[in-house]
Amino acid sequence: MLNGNGLAIAGLVMGCTSFLMILVIGMLAAIAVPDFVRARAAAQQAAGAANLKALEGAKGIWALEHKKQDWDTPTDNDLFGDGKSMREKLVCPAGGTYTLNPMREPPRCSVHGQFKDGELNRPDLNR
Ligand SMILES: [Zn+2]
Repeated sequence: MLNGNGLAIAGLVMGCTSFLMILVIGMLAAIAVPDFVRARAAAQQAAGAANLKALEGAKGIWALEHKKQDWDTPTDNDLFGDGKSMREKLVCPAGGTYTLNPMREPPRCSVHGQFKDGELNRPDLNR
């Protein structure tokens, strides 16, 4: 029984099996990767929206505490740091930059846009 034929057949079977495995794994990856990318974007969107809400709250506290008007604009030093509304400056999860804006306008993210009437007004959707 110890001849080369058995090993050759076993090798052939293993080769075909591994080829099929690579094919199946590739197909699974083709399905899973876009889902992962979409889930990641949705998570970033949710975290970005939460950050914008938090920034708006911090601006409101600053305006109340310092009797600011609609046209006043807080700086990073007004909102972030020890004894301020937020200990650390918020960072956009998608790498956007925040513009605090005057009190009459909500803060804006260069990636996630800004809240208008309770909805996120995204710059990439308005182009
Ligand atoms: Zn953002």
